[in-house]
Amino acid sequence: MAERFNPFQMAQAQLDEATEQLGLSKDVRAILREPLREFHFNIPVRMDDGSIRVFRGFRVQHNDVRGPCKGGIRFAPNETIDTVRALAMWMTWKCAVVDIPLGGSKGGCIVDPAQLSESEKERLCRGWIDQVWKDIGPQVDVPAPDVGTTKQMMGWMMDEYCKLVGGFVPNIITGKPVDAGGSQGRTEATGFGVIFTVREAMKALNMKSTESVAAIQGFGNVAQYAAIGFKKFLGGKVACVSCWDHRDKTAYTYSHPDGIDAEFLQTITDQYGTIDKDRAEAKGYVVEPGDAWISKDVDVLIPAALEGQINADTVNRISPRVKLIAEAANGPTTTEADKILQKKGIYVIPDFLANAGGVTVSYFEQVQGTYNFYWGLAEVQKLLDDKMTSAFWAVHKMHEEKNVYTRLAAYLVSVKRVVDAMKLRGWV
Ligand code: NAD
Repeated sequence: MAERFNPFQMAQAQLDEATEQLGLSKDVRAILREPLREFHFNIPVRMDDGSIRVFRGFRVQHNDVRGPCKGGIRFAPNETIDTVRALAMWMTWKCAVVDIPLGGSKGGCIVDPAQLSESEKERLCRGWIDQVWKDIGPQVDVPAPDVGTTKQMMGWMMDEYCKLVGGFVPNIITGKPVDAGGSQGRTEATGFGVIFTVREAMKALNMKSTESVAAIQGFGNVAQYAAIGFKKFLGGKVACVSCWDHRDKTAYTYSHPDGIDAEFLQTITDQYGTIDKDRAEAKGYVVEPGDAWISKDVDVLIPAALEGQINADTVNRISPRVKLIAEAANGPTTTEADKILQKKGIYVIPDFLANAGGVTVSYFEQVQGTYNFYWGLAEVQKLLDDKMTSAFWAVHKMHEEKNVYTRLAAYLVSVKRVVDAMKLRGWV
């Protein structure tokens, strides 16, 4: 029978395994298993036809012991509070694994942004801030983009916050356009960060990066730069990418016999990560409906779309050639599938390590906003590479020393850092 996928229960089960292994007390577990604070709110928005629609919004702050909470905002039609809770908890571990002084939070709104006009989206973004501005702030909780939200939306949200507090506060939100207080290198940060961890894992596994082939799920922000980075930094080939076509509500896999050209595909992809089928086919791409990406004959799989994509139904379709999975998306592997990956001996770079590049450069953006002094692209990318590389080796070392699965190793590194801060601050 198919698993019922609840990301928050999965996040709690993963945490339970780590707290057990670390021998943490009941009290510490009770603090970490639930978010510290949650905000649920309604956002009335005037639509272009004059009617009012009410959207449901959330902000969840999981833990702020190491610094202000940090986490993106998702605009998605199937958003649930449990997804937001799980993502907020994973943000706590993500900031800890790359050792940046921030806690974990996440926001959401139940909406399909592709169905809204630009002006309706702007009013929704401003409305989201109007409902929650008193509960966030540069020293409290700093939002950022995620699935369904864009740089432009972050610009509107910052502007609304500035109006409400009566001053210029660029460090209230990250992932802004570069000309409105954003950082160089933020757009590419998550995808490139994934590839920096893949590069290090290939060293650990003695894999030849130039002879490696990858299959990627998704073609949004993260997948696009993971695909570009796989070729640019590793000299490898990307056999396919995929997307969810929001027009006919179907997933498609796009492959090319010579490997996909991510820069070309970007030119025919809309802001929601949907690739234009006709134009791809005209350039020799093979377009298959469904999730063919997962069964391709490749060395590396990079799920970079949504949670729960490697599950009991799909895991056994993975080619025996696959040696490495880099979880670019948050929570792409269900608990049941995770056990099968362990049995197969596939090396997994767990989500909150693999995709920590985004929050790392978001942190750099906050620092630059606070100083009102901005760095060049080369400096940002060098600092990002250093952070991702040292986080990878901290986790790999734990994996080897304790002889535990890489996901548990990442939890052991992160949870210990959070609990150490809780002890030092007298929380426990
Ligand atoms: P995005 O909205 O830009 O892109 C999502 C992509 O996934 C789109 O191409 C969409 O068509 C595709 N997709 C959705 N459902 C699919 C399906 N069933 N099959 C195939 N493709 C599908 O989102 P993003 O910012 O690239 O985020 C992707 C993942 O990475 C999410 O899990 C997100 O939480 C995580 N993440 C994002 C960032 C960031 O900086 N953007 C940082 C860390 C983690």
